[in-house]
Order: sequence, then structure tokens, then C-alpha cells
Amino acid sequence: MSKQIKPGSTIGIIGGGQLGRMMAFSAKERGYRIAVLDPTPDCPTAQVADWHIEAAYDDLEALKELAERSDVLTYEFENVDAQTIERVLEKVAIAIPQGTELLLITQNRLNEKEFLKKAGISIASYAKIETEADLTEGLKTLGYPAVLKTIRGGYDGKGQVVLRSQSDIEEALDLLGKGTCVLEEWVSFDKEISIMVARNETGDVVTLPVSENIHQDNILLESIVPARVSEDTSKEAERMAKTIAEKMQLVGILGVELFLTESGKIYANELAPRPHNSGHYSIEACTESQFDLHIRAICGYPLPEVELLKPAVMINILGEHFDQALELNNTQPSWHVHDYGKIGVKVGRKMGHVTILTDNIEETLHAIDETKIWN
Ligand code: AMP
Repeated sequence: MSKQIKPGSTIGIIGGGQLGRMMAFSAKERGYRIAVLDPTPDCPTAQVADWHIEAAYDDLEALKELAERSDVLTYEFENVDAQTIERVLEKVAIAIPQGTELLLITQNRLNEKEFLKKAGISIASYAKIETEADLTEGLKTLGYPAVLKTIRGGYDGKGQVVLRSQSDIEEALDLLGKGTCVLEEWVSFDKEISIMVARNETGDVVTLPVSENIHQDNILLESIVPARVSEDTSKEAERMAKTIAEKMQLVGILGVELFLTESGKIYANELAPRPHNSGHYSIEACTESQFDLHIRAICGYPLPEVELLKPAVMINILGEHFDQALELNNTQPSWHVHDYGKIGVKVGRKMGHVTILTDNIEETLHAIDETKIWN
């Protein structure tokens, strides 16, 4: 086993958004220092870091500088180029415990699907699409509706087209013009749920409680924890997440997005090799947050079993909610309002989130409605 990264050491984070910022909070509590690489001045992580290297994620020299300043490296999003990281690692003797294999799998939808299939995890049927003929053939096999997704770089519903009929083909072909795609069978799910799983190098594997996720315009709006699903469903989600973590030899935290159908079948939709928006509730609601688990895992410490202290609802603050949501600090003093410190409020941009601990989920959902911020 590689050596433990002790408090006082520096954790280098590639990517300076809100996930890096919340990782940094957890790391700071434990006595670590933080270096961050991100092109944006005053980005959310830079505001709480010890060093900020202001450069692009694929800037080899900047990555090398980050590695030289750090005792361990981590990333807060999956679209860092695995090959660039490998080239840097050849030059500096530093660990990136999550590894680059995890990136190679999760930054390419086809690799991810092949991995999941091999791991015995149920996924929607799919076809690789490179040409118009592939698309025609794929639609013949999978039928309408179907979803065409770029294999790289898509998030929050970007880089995908839902095909409901022949009339959507043109839009789909535009997307195909951007590169190889994957066509997925439509899953008419009853609920979208997700589960966070963490693993360390010695093989401790723990999960967080299953979250029920409500999306609006493809962006996560609300997470309800525990998910309003049967115990069997929760157990199955946990089993799937642990299998994925073990087959991947995961080190760090990973989010598993799932579709649950009315008949109780669970399909894996997507993997996120990092903390995930639907796990933010764990900061207040659990004995260990997703960020705590990630920091413990990459620094080589044992992982404790996690307990839910109280049910919770987490709701995202997008640009259009921002001013009103900050007022909740006055009107709802027991709600935990997180502000990511982003400069520039834009519609659709994740500016923060609110976590509400509650003994009555339905009442809390009603109280959220009553604020009229998210309606
Ligand atoms: P993704 O970027 O793959 O997470 O997809 C974004 C959203 O689109 C998901 O959260 C679902 O609501 C929807 N979606 C994606 N793939 C499918 C599918 N195969 N069937 C039904 N809905 C889907």
C-alpha cells in the first residue's frame, strides 16, 4: 500500500468549482493544505485554497507545477484528459490515487457502458452510432423514443437529443456531426435515484444512503433522502454501487445514477468519478459527508460506515433563484444555505444549494413550495 498522506500535507485539486471547494472544506478541517488548478480567477475553490494556479486543465506545465506543490492529486470533474495527467505523472513522483483508468472509463460513455455490462450491472440497451446508417439501424432495433448522446463531454443533459419520431432525426444528425454517439433505449422510469460509494486502497467500501432525485430541464433540482423506495431497492442500489467500486478498484468517491422502473428494475445510467450534486445532503445529514469520505480515501485512511443522522431535502440554487434563496438566511434560519461564491450569476448556473434536515419530508417539500422560489 502507498503511504498515508498525513495532515499538514498538500492536496492538489484539478478543477476549482464547488466540488473542489467542498472537498477543500473537509480537507482543511483535517489540517491539509490545498492547491488548485483552474483557469478562472477567484473560482470557488481558489477562494478557500492556499495556492491557485491559474491555467487550463490540460496545460502540461501548470499541471506539473500543481503536482510539484502537492503531496497527492485529485480531480473534481471527469473531463480532465487522462493522457495529459499520465504525461505529468511520468515526470513527478506523486500519487493520484483515483488513477487515470477511472477517467478513461467515465469520460467516454461507450467505455462506461462496456465496463458496466462486464461488471454485470443492468443498463439500457444501446448502440454505437458513427454514421447516419448506424442511426437508422439503431432506431430500427431500439425503437422510438430513444436518446442519442455524445460519448464525450456531455453533462446536465447537454450533448443529447431525445428522438420521439422521424422528425427529430435532423437534430440527431447535427449532434452526430460533433463525433461518435451512443443511442440508448428509452427507459420509462418511475424515479431517478443515485448512490455515492467510496473505497480506499485497502478495500474498505462504504455507501451513503440512496437519494431520490428530481430534475428540471435536465439539471438536478432536488434530492430527497432517504429515497422514497422499498428497502429491497435500496439494498440492490447499494449492492450495485459496491460491485462497481470493487470491479473498478475505486479509490475515492463515485456517484452512481440509476433509473428505477415501476416494476422495481434498476438500470445504471451514468457514473461520476467524484463527489456528486445528489450527495451534498451528506454534509449536514450524515455522520461523514461525501467529501470527508473522498479525502479519507485518497489520503489512505480507513473508511467508517456512514449513518443518516436525519432525513433531508437538498435543493439547488441556480442563478434564477439566487437573490431570493439568500433571503432564506433570514426567513428560514434552520435551513443550511450554501453559497459557492461564484462570480457572475447566470440563469441555469449552479450558485449554491440548500439542505433542510427534517422529520417530515412531505411537510418540507410543501415548505419549499411555499417559498415560491423554485416554482
Ligand atoms: P444523462 O446526461 O445521461 O444523465 O441524462 C440526463 C437526463 O436525461 C437523465 O437524468 C434522464 O432524466 C434523461 N435520460 C437520459 N437517458 C435516458 C434514457 N435512456 N431513458 C430515459 N431518460 C433518459
